[in-house]
Formats: sequence, structure tokens, C-alpha cells
Amino acid sequence: MKNNILVINCGSSSLKFSLITPSSGETLVSGLAERLLTNEAQLTIKHNEQKQTANIPSPFDHQKAIEAVVVFLKEQSLTEQIFAVGHRVVHGGEKYSQPTLIDDDVKNNIDELAKLAPLHNPANLQGVLAAEAVFGRIPQVAIFDTAFHQTMPAKAYLYALPYQLYQTHGIRKYGFHGTSHYFVAKSAAALINKTLAESNFISAHLGNGCSITAVKQGKSVDTSLGLTPLEGLMMGTRSGSVDPGIIFHLVDQLGYSLEQVNTLLNKESGLLGVSQLSNDCRELEQAAEQGHQLAQLALDIFCYRIAKTIASFSVCFTSLDGIIFTGGIGENSSHIRSKVLSQLSLLNCAVDNKANITCRFGQSGNIAPTDALPCWVIPTNEEWVIAEQSYQLLNGAK
Ligand code: AMP
Repeated sequence: MKNNILVINCGSSSLKFSLITPSSGETLVSGLAERLLTNEAQLTIKHNEQKQTANIPSPFDHQKAIEAVVVFLKEQSLTEQIFAVGHRVVHGGEKYSQPTLIDDDVKNNIDELAKLAPLHNPANLQGVLAAEAVFGRIPQVAIFDTAFHQTMPAKAYLYALPYQLYQTHGIRKYGFHGTSHYFVAKSAAALINKTLAESNFISAHLGNGCSITAVKQGKSVDTSLGLTPLEGLMMGTRSGSVDPGIIFHLVDQLGYSLEQVNTLLNKESGLLGVSQLSNDCRELEQAAEQGHQLAQLALDIFCYRIAKTIASFSVCFTSLDGIIFTGGIGENSSHIRSKVLSQLSLLNCAVDNKANITCRFGQSGNIAPTDALPCWVIPTNEEWVIAEQSYQLLNGAK
């Protein structure tokens, strides 16, 4: 039956794909093309529990990567089953709060919004163009990372800047990881036998990029990432929020160029910058255990900021059904979860050590003791949301 969705997530030098059955979330094939635009470009495909690699022909770009994916899908007689292609698009600005069928207008807008997401939207558009070239008339749908946060009230999304910067230039908080926060909040609601609209969660997506969202009655009412994915929590290589005065100090007193400041804040800060060792949480946990003081300090700052942000978002609620951890760190690091929750005793947070150790590597569950605020570990599945929402849009269903 022709009812599967090919989900594509393009980065500047990578392309992730999965072929998903939207009703069940089953992944039939998935893969990753890496090091695109270099002659080391390579495609790894996972199918029937087996991994295989394939070369991507010259000029080693997104187009050739998708062509290589299609060659594989054709060999397995899977192309006939593709109903639509669903694309993750990072920035949809204020224009897009819903899954959207891609036409020329939408492509122009994704391009236009590249000024707000210069590292992401151009790559996402590349993916759309490459898929169009290969799949012809198969519909293409955009699922925006910012869409879920379009329900935030003005008091949460406006910066205390002159209002015309918002009116004229759209300078406001947009937030990201929306698809992930939506998925885990919906899953957590199901675990407590409530609908999403009846439940209240604070959800922490902790991976290389990190964000926390207050999801009130199913809607995002505040989130930690901002106009760009640099605001808020400490991340792998991103600083998160800093005093903006530091930027002037770096430029005026220390002779940094703006480009250098940009690189410093996005690529040289965060866990990597403080630890001077790595942006990888697992590596830092091991180093800290062996006495590496800066690794320990980086993890201390990381956890303190997560706890502080969760506590600050408690102002959005009069009652809370729980806290959710997801993302590579949130799903796997019992150490980080425990360190965060131990700083939130005023919110009645505590850890059940046995459950905390059990909930890793794909295992979901509540890691809090029965008399504490529930804390859910839920593996995210943005691809499934993209497949489901693409399918529903084209079938006119909600
Ligand atoms: P993501 O961007 O969601 O893929 O998450 C990547 C982050 O998850 C990296 O910092 C990894 O070190 C971290 N991570 C993955 N597995 C573990 C683990 N078992 N313990 C601690 N951190 C982990």
C-alpha cells in the first residue's frame, strides 16, 4: 500500500532519512549521508537490522545523496510505497504554525527565513529541491521546528527591546525542537491516561542542542531557545544565554571581530568551552569521575542551568503533571538527571535510583518515587511526528 512517508532532515553537510509507516511509527529503512560536499561523502543505510554503506557519486551533494537513497529503495521495491516526503525545516518564523504542503511560495519563504537560521534553512531547502528533482510529483510537506511554539503569549516571546524591532524585523523568541517537545508531551500524557490538552509538563530536550519548554494544556507557553538556537541553556558547543555586554567587551576591549564572537559563542563555548576537553556529555562524565576538574565544572554549570530554567518555568503553571527528559543526554544520562532533580526539591522533585538507572537506551518510564513529582524519561521520535503530520495533512485528517 502506498502509505509510507519518507522523512528527510538535511544539515549543511549531512542528510538523515527514514521511511516510516505513519500509523504505527515503524521505521522500514533509515540512514545517514555524511561529509557531503567532500570526496569522503558516504551513505550508511539501516534495513532489516543490518547496516550497509554506499558511496555517493560526484559532486557528493544532497541531490546525489538522495539519488543514492532512491537507488537503494528501488532495489528493495520500496519506492512504490512512498506517499509523500516530509521535511524537517528549522525556521518557519511567524508564518508557519502548522504542517505545510510545499509549493513555490513556501520554498521562497524558507529561503527568506534563512536570515533567521543561516546554518539550517538553506540546507533544509537543499533537501526539498533535491527530493523534488528525484520524486517529481510526490507531495512534499514541511514540518517546522518553530511551529509548536507559535502558541507562546507575547509576554513570553517578546524581548525587552524597542517594539518596532519586532514589528518591522520579526525580532522575537521563536524557539526550536518543537516537534520533539510535542512528541514527548503527547507521550507523557498518554502514560498518565490524559489527553495532551488536559496535561501540564515541563519538557527538557537535552542533546547537543538543549532546550526546555513549558507545555501547558498541550501548548507551548514558554521555551528557552530564542530568535536563534543560541539562547538559554548551556549546550555542547553553544554558550546559551550570556550577558550581551560580554559581546561589546570582547569587541571593544579585546579586539574580537563579530565573526570571531559568533564562532566563540556557537562553536567554542558550552560543555566544550568550559571543560576544554569535549562537547560530549558521556566523555565528560568519565573524565569527571577520573578527577578532571574542568569536566566536573562544565557538568555542574550544565545541570545548575537546567534546574534553574525548569524552576523558572514553574511560573507558567498552577499545577504540573511532571517533568520530561529527552534527547541523547536526557534519555541516557542518569547522572545528569539525578543532579538536576536534586536541585529541584522545592518542586517536590526526587529520584528513584533504581528507576533512574533502568530508564536508559530507549527505555521510557517515571524515575521519581511515588510521593514526588513524576519525572518521565521519554525517547523522542521527531521522525514519527513528521511522518504522521505529513500524512494527516494530505489526508485532510487532524
Ligand atoms: P543528541 O544531540 O540528542 O544526539 O545527543 C548527543 C549527546 O547525548 C552527547 O553529548 C552524548 O554524549 C550524549 N549521550 C548519549 N548517550 C549518553 C550516555 N549514555 N550518557 C551520557 N550522555 C550520553
